[in-house]
Amino acid sequence: MFNLILFGPPGSGKGTQSEKLIAKYGLKHLSTGDLLRSEIAAQTPLGLEAKKIMDKGQLVPDEVVIGMISSALDANPNAKGFLFDGFPRTSAQAEALDKLLELKKTSIAAMLALNVSEEELVKRLMKRGETSGRSDDTNETVIRARITEYRNKTEMVADYYRNFDKVVMVKGEGSIDDIFKALSAEIDQRI
Ligand code: AMP
Repeated sequence: MFNLILFGPPGSGKGTQSEKLIAKYGLKHLSTGDLLRSEIAAQTPLGLEAKKIMDKGQLVPDEVVIGMISSALDANPNAKGFLFDGFPRTSAQAEALDKLLELKKTSIAAMLALNVSEEELVKRLMKRGETSGRSDDTNETVIRARITEYRNKTEMVADYYRNFDKVVMVKGEGSIDDIFKALSAEIDQRI
């Protein structure tokens, strides 16, 4: 199995690049944001609780997203590998992910971290809000809260993987194709 984490702040292009990477490398895409939005669309109790938190730009509790990832791993026993997008977002999630993968006798090959300036992030997210239908993309206060959560709780997750020498920084500004080529080049060296 070959497992990757696509890492970076909200608006850094994780979703866009994930779609291209899973098509090229045959990995199973696991986005906790997408899984949560499916719960919201299905109006499950979990979805309704999560929506209140997501609309404030805050992180949903670790046990909720860890549970969702655990189920998704179990539901895909024959996957060639997983591309984690938007997960792990806290140190507790990173440690839980390692344990879950260990149970499956596998691990994270690399964390690909997209680097984008804050002003570019806000610009991209406001623009995405015009078409995405995501309530957390339409309000600049919520967008800035999401970036603050990232700086306070998520950015340090990279240090966890840096300890294992697994972090690869990739420039997240430029054309979608150029960023995809840069990501692919890093994957090709490791796959
Ligand atoms: P995303 O689609 O990755 O931008 O996530 C949208 C929102 O879902 C975030 O702002 C959080 O409220 C929530 N969320 C997604 N993934 C996680 C996670 N791994 N941990 C906590 N909250 C998450």
